Order: sequence, then C-alpha cells, then structure tokens
Amino acid sequence: MKRYDAIKRIVECLSNELIICNIGAPSRELFNIKDRAENFYMLGSMGLASSIAFGLAFSKPKKKVWCIDGDGSILMNLGSLSTIANHHPKNLTLIVIDNGSYGSTGNQKTYTSKKTKLEIIAKGAGFESITVINNEDEIKPTLKNLETGCHFIKINTQPGNAQVANIPLEPEEIKKRFIDSVSR
Ligand SMILES: [Mg+2]
Repeated sequence: MKRYDAIKRIVECLSNELIICNIGAPSRELFNIKDRAENFYMLGSMGLASSIAFGLAFSKPKKKVWCIDGDGSILMNLGSLSTIANHHPKNLTLIVIDNGSYGSTGNQKTYTSKKTKLEIIAKGAGFESITVINNEDEIKPTLKNLETGCHFIKINTQPGNAQVANIPLEPEEIKKRFIDSVSR
C-alpha cells in the first residue's frame, strides 16, 4: 500500500470530520482525492499538523478532528504526543502514515525505517488507544468503528508519492474556507 491508497481509504470513511493534513505531498494527494472546505492543507510549518489538530480539537470539542500526519513530521515534534495524550481530547484521531521516509523532500529514509517504533513512543506518551495497520483493508473497519476518544493510528505504507497536481488554492483561501467550515 502506498500513502495515496491509505488516504483514499481514509477519505471513504469521512462524514463531517475536520481534517488537518500534513504539509507537502500528503496534502496534494488528499486534495486530488477529495477536496472539501473541511480539509486544512497545512503549509509552511512541517511537524506541526498534530499540534494544530490538537489545538482545534481542544477548542472545538463538539467537532470531530482527524489529523493526517507522517512519520518524518511527527518525529520533528514528538512532544506533541505527550501534550495530546495528557489532555486526551475525546474528539481527536491522529493518523500517522508511516512510510519510513521524508516523502516530500525526495524519500530520504527516516528513523522509523530503522529502529524507531512510533506506536511504542505513543504508548509511552500516554495514548490509551493505539492501532497499527499494515493492510489497506483494515483502514475502513478501524475508522468506521472509532469510539469517542483520543486515538493514535499508525498506517504502515511503502515510500513514494503519487504524481498529482499542485493545490491551486491560495493559502488565504484554504484558511478562510476552513475557518468558515469550522464555524458552521
Ligand atoms: Mg513519511
């Protein structure tokens, strides 16, 4: 499974969730699979998708928030896992797509391709709900059956980016329509 396939499956499970998506290729892939105002394509702050998603979930407890993050990105911001786990917002699902590489900068290997296990770090950080997915077919049942809570889901994929077009929206536009959708 490639990250593109994983995002496709994630999108099939969406209802009204707000999505904060990791910078670069993951955001482009999500945009091309299914653009919606409720998608926030994070720009210019690698590593911070989980922090942005946490702040959103914490301040909007009635909204369901899914964060699509990556291994390279979460490795840059491991403190975010402790912050999220200790506050455990009941409306946040952190989905880390682990392809063992920095996909957006040329597929250089990350430490998850060597010894680092993000699910073990998440457990140590205090997450109580941790799921590791290796097979594309497991994504739908996992996301469709999510109970209210704070979840860490890691999806293992192969490295590689889909050849998709750039996002034609201006950053201001992404921000404005996302804020509008949060306020609805
Ligand atoms: Mg990666």
